[in-house]
Amino acid sequence: MGALAGRLVFDEACGEVRDGPRRYLLMRADVLMGALARLPMQVRGDMLAALADSVRDNGADSVRAYLAQLGGDGDALLSAMTVAAADLGWGAWRFTGQESVAHREAAIPASLRQHAGQDDSAAPLLSLAVRNSPFVAGWRAEGHVQGRRVDPESASTLAVCAPIAGMLAAVADALSRETGAGGERVGAAASIEVVESHCAASHGGEECRFEVRAAPPALQPGFRPQRRTHRGAE
Ligand SMILES: [Zn+2]
Repeated sequence: MGALAGRLVFDEACGEVRDGPRRYLLMRADVLMGALARLPMQVRGDMLAALADSVRDNGADSVRAYLAQLGGDGDALLSAMTVAAADLGWGAWRFTGQESVAHREAAIPASLRQHAGQDDSAAPLLSLAVRNSPFVAGWRAEGHVQGRRVDPESASTLAVCAPIAGMLAAVADALSRETGAGGERVGAAASIEVVESHCAASHGGEECRFEVRAAPPALQPGFRPQRRTHRGAE
């Protein structure tokens, strides 16, 4: 059991599950993903993008609080997020392709500046592999309940783990802030985007993969038409 699982309060009298001031909701994975399956295909991408952005925005304060508690240690934050994700049932996380944290922390803001304007071939700033995503499991279960794949077209194109993409974006936002003299993160987060490059729901297997990249120039501050955190496999 991780730190988050240890902090969760199951308040029977109030009918609440909470971590400090933050209220949680336990919901079956097939119920959540069944709602997605019931939407017309053309709006599923919008719902997933909205979920990702909501997790990114609402999760940002939690992630920043974790990072502050850890003295600004980025590697410790990634470890804490891995354990917290497991505590919440969000699958088994593994950050991949990490160089030394000292290099990565120094590199993130510089890389973002350096890579701005370059194409997608630039190496990801951070990569995450997730086994056993509940969103994949819920999506598959919904298909089985209906006795068929959800539908052939979206089954082959949709990356469904938008909440994970949103949380990863919140982590990258926190890490990409400039580090102050006392180790605290200051300044605005650099512009990043998260892509689920491989989703087990659409590509098969048991592992989903996510990449954090510098946002293309059109999404840099000053010209941000609409943020879409989650750009799944298309
Ligand atoms: Zn996935």
